[in-house]
Amino acid sequence: MFSSIIAHGTKINGPLVMSDNWMIVIAADPLAVPPKERADAAFRLLTTMRPEAQDPALYLSDKPEFFHCGANFANVFCPLCGADIREWWRRPIDAWWKSADRRDLSVVIPCCGRATTLNDLDYDWPQGMACVAISLMNPEFDLEPEERQQIEAALGLPVRIIWEHI
Ligand SMILES: [Zn+2]
Repeated sequence: MFSSIIAHGTKINGPLVMSDNWMIVIAADPLAVPPKERADAAFRLLTTMRPEAQDPALYLSDKPEFFHCGANFANVFCPLCGADIREWWRRPIDAWWKSADRRDLSVVIPCCGRATTLNDLDYDWPQGMACVAISLMNPEFDLEPEERQQIEAALGLPVRIIWEHI
């Protein structure tokens, strides 16, 4: 269920209400699969840049995963006309999540009737699908533009930065 994706990691009924912020650096291209050496190099670089961060993890697969922004999620808009498409979006994202081949991200948005992809919708806050991701828990600062460029150079791919609040 999509609701379980969104609720991932959220603890609202336990004795401890935890609150963490994950920085997740994903490839901007949802189907791009970098060589393992490149992914490892970008992972090492990012963990060196943010040594205070906890639980660094690298995701690398030929199957895209959905990297969402957790409690930061506010809405989904059409990238072409800006229409609020959150209610419509629930069904295609759920169908994609359950599909055997997650490499098909194509959708036709209802407001404009145009073809685009689930990764290209205007998410507030940013989120997206990717075959490679590096995540860090509670880094103190967002990436500076030059740090982002260094990560992109190491990975060999442009990136999108996601902040997941739990
Ligand atoms: Zn539209």
